[in-house]
Amino acid sequence: MEQETKICQNCKKDFTIGSDDFNFYEKIKVPAPNWCPECRLIKRLSWRNERSLFKRKCDLCGQDKILIFPQESPYKVYCYPCWWSEKWDAESHAKDYDFSKPFFEQLMELFLNVPRLGIILRWSA
Ligand SMILES: [Zn+2]
Ligand SMILES: [Zn+2]
Repeated sequence: MEQETKICQNCKKDFTIGSDDFNFYEKIKVPAPNWCPECRLIKRLSWRNERSLFKRKCDLCGQDKILIFPQESPYKVYCYPCWWSEKWDAESHAKDYDFSKPFFEQLMELFLNVPRLGIILRWSA
């Protein structure tokens, strides 16, 4: 399919869908988007918390930190230095899929077990 210019159904601006994009949508069996790339990105990122900060203990070093997950959140949360350290092994959280149990039950176990990065810091010189 040729490239096509569409009007974003959200912001009403023009955007172009390339022929490669149409091939990809065909391959994964999804319809072409009605929203422009920027609106789709905003929608995808809208769930992210980057403004609310909580005092919470890091689940690896145990120190009080300022993180994006509150203490009562059910997730395992590591502070920035711990996350990037060699003190833990991400592969140790890998599990084989158990065909005798429901998929989402196993996914939830993973969500609760695999550590999350508590905050994204950017150090610049
Ligand atoms: Zn748009
Ligand atoms: Zn830590």
